Amino acid sequence: MKRPLNERAKAFFINMGRQSRFLRLPAIIGLAVTMLFYQVYDYCRKGTKRFACTIFILCCFMVGNSFSFPVFQEDNGFVSDNEKENTVAAVVASDITLANEQTVAYDELEMLEDEDVLDGYEDAELHGMEGVDKYLLDEIINTEGGEEAKTEVVTESEGEEKGASFDENDWKLVLINKQHPIPEDYTFTLGPIKTIKGTMQCDERIIEELLAMMQAASEDGVNLAICSPYRDLAWQEVLFNRKIKAYMNKGMSYMEAYKISSQAVTVPGASEHQIGLAIDIVSDVYTTLDEGFAETDAGIWLEEHCAEYGFVLRYPKGKEYITSIEFEPWHFRYVGKEAAGVMMKENLCLEEFWEKYL
Ligand SMILES: [Zn+2]
Repeated sequence: MKRPLNERAKAFFINMGRQSRFLRLPAIIGLAVTMLFYQVYDYCRKGTKRFACTIFILCCFMVGNSFSFPVFQEDNGFVSDNEKENTVAAVVASDITLANEQTVAYDELEMLEDEDVLDGYEDAELHGMEGVDKYLLDEIINTEGGEEAKTEVVTESEGEEKGASFDENDWKLVLINKQHPIPEDYTFTLGPIKTIKGTMQCDERIIEELLAMMQAASEDGVNLAICSPYRDLAWQEVLFNRKIKAYMNKGMSYMEAYKISSQAVTVPGASEHQIGLAIDIVSDVYTTLDEGFAETDAGIWLEEHCAEYGFVLRYPKGKEYITSIEFEPWHFRYVGKEAAGVMMKENLCLEEFWEKYL
């Protein structure tokens, strides 16, 4: 029986090594190389079909793509001289420059407020629209109950000292932000705040304390003006989209405009105004919703006293990295007196309060 090739090669090299000392090293190398090649050959032989398929696919791939490589094109004469020039020029061109970047100077951009994007609306159309009308205490008709609320303030702040525990299902503490949209099953009743011009709405459970706060402020000589308590989703979307459009008109891309708009106004579906627990407050002498309000008498009064009536500054200065909303000294959120007291004392924003107490 004829011995297989590898056996014969092995025998040949072993024989060679035995013949002379000097031939031993070449024999060992020869033996190793032969074994290696045999192994590879054997491996390929056993998987013939598989390898044939792979090579076939590789060939198809190369043929299919070869025409897109300039070198292949030239070698195969598939390009005209004219084209050749272009191809080569494109490949060697070292002076390719990036498209001019359009930089938007964010510092110079003033943040748009709700009022800034309301052009084009008729006054009549806007009347009654939340977010537009501002009302002073003496323009609000249902002020009865203010006195009662004040006595309540005293009793509840006494209870506060006993140490409070908080319930995460408490409607007063509901956390609404970009990460926590309004729960689908959230329900509340809108109550009217009757004014001389019409009716505003917010969660009925906070009206009494809101009016008590306005009353107390006016006794201290500060005339607060409330605006935009409740906004429905549709109105929230109008404001948001108008802001995006306004920023895009200034040369921003949609993504940039979206990003910056979501800092200035909360994303639709993630606003406390939609559940009637947030109120924008300014004063009779300072009516714009901007950072300057913090320095006014009304802004200072509110910061000092809002917690006594269960309200907190929802987007405080220095907490922007947590709330992801710029400082809004006019935006107050009702959380109840107990929570407001704790948040005030420990300098917590609502997100921090949740992390610590709920
Ligand atoms: Zn607001």
